[in-house]
Amino acid sequence: MSTIIPQPGIMDIALYEGGQSHVEGVADVLKLSSNENPFGFSPKVSEALSGCLTRLHRYPNTDHAPLREAIGEVHGLDPERIICGVGSDEIINFLCQAYAGPGDEVLHTEHGFAMYRISALAAGATPVVAAERERVTDVDALLSACTERTKLVFIANPNNPTGTMIGGNEVARLADGLPDGALLVLDGAYAEFVDGFDGGVSLVDQRDNVVMTRTFSKLYGLGGLRIGWGYGPKPIIDVLNRIRGPFNLSEFQMAAAIAAVRDQDWATRCKAENARLRVWLGEELAALGVPSDVSLTNFILARFADPAEAEAADLHLKTLGVIVRRVGGYGLPNCLRITVGDTVGCRRVVEGIRTFREENA
Ligand SMILES: *Cc1c(COP(=O)(O)O)cnc(C)c1O
Repeated sequence: MSTIIPQPGIMDIALYEGGQSHVEGVADVLKLSSNENPFGFSPKVSEALSGCLTRLHRYPNTDHAPLREAIGEVHGLDPERIICGVGSDEIINFLCQAYAGPGDEVLHTEHGFAMYRISALAAGATPVVAAERERVTDVDALLSACTERTKLVFIANPNNPTGTMIGGNEVARLADGLPDGALLVLDGAYAEFVDGFDGGVSLVDQRDNVVMTRTFSKLYGLGGLRIGWGYGPKPIIDVLNRIRGPFNLSEFQMAAAIAAVRDQDWATRCKAENARLRVWLGEELAALGVPSDVSLTNFILARFADPAEAEAADLHLKTLGVIVRRVGGYGLPNCLRITVGDTVGCRRVVEGIRTFREENA
């Protein structure tokens, strides 16, 4: 046996499975498995990207100042307290690397995002799961799961893959009840989809133990470029910057993100279409006997009678070229997570479930 062995925890990491994007023998595929924006990114992004082409021989700027200033301006935040990363995944990674190690616990919710566990294990820490209440984050369960070894507590609000969210008072109660030395991370990947929601900014500003993460992958339609950011107390941002690679973002990533965040007209229109179609999709599926919780995101979590029915519905949709997400790995084997597409896409899902029902009546 080889004596070359990885650090403890690494071999416990199951490879992350991305949303499927092909179906054998089907040309007209509709990918609704990764919560991507069906309208794509702002046209301003393409212009910004062409502007970078002549500069590829130059190293990118290391402090991301222009991007942090653009984000700060649009969101009304101090750019000095913003850190940018290769997707918010990288910010999650920095947090685990910086604040959790062997013997430490990283707490997340029952149906929480897969990266929390992966990044915790990669740092040598122990992931700990707190139960949810009917697919909603349960603050009491999180607080009772805390120990003196808890270093990080991740909640996505709204959450993926449930689509549900908890109110500001509940989040504040969680922040206040954490043991000394534990940092609360508010993952705001879907914050942009919630009307009038700041993603947790006000709580970050009132506490020294709260950090928020955000992404350009969802509403801004830039999942392929990998850009995310975090906002937190200055001392914590300073710590994260020490482990950030100096050239973690390319000029392409920065230019695209600046153009995207400055085009709030595009973002607002995508958000309005998503809200309208999400309600329609949820109601149509419910009428076909497939209920879902009220979602505040760009997907719905469709609930079937049992895992077998969910699997059969998934296979039926696939034969029609519609790819949705199985979420058995998230402890939700009777559910399918369906990204809200455009009008044509949502109609295709509803028709798919209608014919599934007819064939299985
Ligand atoms: C999609 C998603 C992210 C964003 O990941 P990126 O690395 O920014 O693409 C983060 N958290 C949750 C809960 C998500 O669903």
